[in-house]
Amino acid sequence: MRFREFTERHLQDVLADTKAFVELESPTVDKAGCDRAASYLAGRFRDYTGAEIVWHSQSKWGNHFEAKVGNGPRRILLLGHTDTVWPIGTIERLPCRIDGDYLTGPGCFDMKYGSIQALWGLGSVMEARAGEEKTFVFVGNSEEEVGSPTSRHVIEALARESECVLVLEPALAPNGAVKLWRKGSGRYRLEVQGRASHAGADPEQGRSALVELAHQIIDLEAIADARKGTTVNVGTARGGTRPNVVAAFAECEIDIRFRTMEEARRAADRILHRPTFIDGTSVRAEGVVNAPPMEETPASRRLYELAKRLAAEEGFELPAGGTGGGSDGNRTAALGVPTLDGLGAVGEGAHADHERVQVSTIAPRVEWFAHLLAAL
Ligand SMILES: [Zn+2]
Repeated sequence: MRFREFTERHLQDVLADTKAFVELESPTVDKAGCDRAASYLAGRFRDYTGAEIVWHSQSKWGNHFEAKVGNGPRRILLLGHTDTVWPIGTIERLPCRIDGDYLTGPGCFDMKYGSIQALWGLGSVMEARAGEEKTFVFVGNSEEEVGSPTSRHVIEALARESECVLVLEPALAPNGAVKLWRKGSGRYRLEVQGRASHAGADPEQGRSALVELAHQIIDLEAIADARKGTTVNVGTARGGTRPNVVAAFAECEIDIRFRTMEEARRAADRILHRPTFIDGTSVRAEGVVNAPPMEETPASRRLYELAKRLAAEEGFELPAGGTGGGSDGNRTAALGVPTLDGLGAVGEGAHADHERVQVSTIAPRVEWFAHLLAAL
């Protein structure tokens, strides 16, 4: 209730900022586009919250920034990303507009609105002087959609200095749940060597790498454990040269997802130590776990309980859940810093044409987020 008047006064500004930010298209691979979007957002943080901006300039990817708001001794880290998966020009096809109760546009849900919610939530807290013992640091990461290759070091260093991490990625669709856990992921490649021969003249001389790969794929997918949430997806497979040649070579790529590091180790061990099924073929696998899981902890559960209580005061329910997709929250949680994710947009359609944000959730959400920042 405390922040209602501020939100009512600024709701049109929140919508206008969201629209302006969505219209600054910023696919991860387009440095100029990402830099324009990040400059816009950083400027808004400076103007509305008095933030001190620290830039982390990049040569290949867009520049990242930190917006430091307040100067108290306690540190809270807020994570956002300014990049999207949408190529430049998508805005012509999927314009940013309000249609009924929904705001549309490329990246509105994942996660341009979330960054604007952080901005106005902080603006509200600053105006109310409700966070004087804290410093809030918002990170605008420009390459989250490709796995944060350069920003991860910035984010991890800031997380180590912080009491907790709030991630403004979209809420779970469609019920607006926060994400208390996220699966970790791993990527592997498997190569099979067989022996080529003429498929008509001397097929018995050949050892088909493709047939061996078929056995491998069935065996790999059996590593999954639905009860524990471990999945194995052989997403690509290729091999052979011509129909009349027994295939001497085949390969596949594997994506694994898991909720605990224990499961990650079990799956990795089985992928890297392969049996062979056809005599005379050989198999070699390589790859790594590239994101640790965000596991629920007693501390993240307490953060959630607080967020849920404050949501009830604003008049909405806040369920909790989890997802197979990763975010920068996976890394901060793996450092042992309590992390709560999915605090941004309520809507649906991340990375899909029907991406949209539910407009009627915006005012209560900004207000609730300010309340949460003040109460931490
Ligand atoms: Zn995202």
